[in-house]
Amino acid sequence: ADSGKVALVTGANKGIGFETARLLGERGMTVLAGSRDADRGRKAVEELVAGGVDAHAVRLDVTDEASVEAAAAWIGGAYGRLDVLVNNAGIAPHSGFTAPTATGAQALREAYETNVFGVVAVVAAVMPLLRAAEAARIVNVSSEVGSIAAMTDPGHPLGRMPASLSYPSSKTALNMVTAMYAKELADTPIKVNAANPGYCATDLNGRSGVRTAEQGAEVSVHLATLPADGPSGVLWGHLMGRDD
Ligand code: NDP
Repeated sequence: ADSGKVALVTGANKGIGFETARLLGERGMTVLAGSRDADRGRKAVEELVAGGVDAHAVRLDVTDEASVEAAAAWIGGAYGRLDVLVNNAGIAPHSGFTAPTATGAQALREAYETNVFGVVAVVAAVMPLLRAAEAARIVNVSSEVGSIAAMTDPGHPLGRMPASLSYPSSKTALNMVTAMYAKELADTPIKVNAANPGYCATDLNGRSGVRTAEQGAEVSVHLATLPADGPSGVLWGHLMGRDD
């Protein structure tokens, strides 16, 4: 059922995004692998193609409006629609002090530029292509660290983590952005959900995660291939402290 579908994955040159591109490709989708760096994107696509995936590199820096517009225009010209959008690109800048210092504020801005405004920019640019698809799926790769309830519960593993200003709150914002998109698109066949990959070993956390990037990617793939009666507007995936 997925064969012939066109999927764009942002930040697909490594980590969870690369594995997401690979798994969607293995299901028969044409995969557009977004990468902000042309060389890294080309290398990733070579690897995907060698594995039998119909993959194409798309230069896409989610914080660069011109790059976002150019990518959307290229996809429109080549395919005329987009069945799956996985907003996977994300960063976790070091916050410095959590107190409202200049370092903290700068890290907060950087995290939001990529993790929140980047998603909003990409969604806006490709929305006509998502609407042109039969029943598009949008997956925003988020995190349970965006859950205020979990992060402030002293009995929860996340509640015992040290304070960090930028990354968790950017994912909180992304979760609400996801919920509001779902509400806005409720009368369309488009579903929008947030993925919680769990703690995966990638460059984002210096490879300290306990799950593989592929396991994290499976969460995004599940949400990217939801049936018509599946949910919209939820954060779904590997919940720490509940299924660990
Ligand atoms: P990686 O650092 O391995 O990969 C991040 C990807 O995002 C890279 O391809 C990176 O490109 C890309 N990227 C960063 N900034 C931009 C940008 N401005 N434009 C386009 N691409 C960009 O991390 P992960 O695979 O772990 O992260 C993927 C997603 O999963 C993120 O949204 C992260 O927040 C989320 N996540 C990860 C968890 C984990 O435990 N690993 C847990 C919960 C959520 P480049 O190579 O050029 O830097």
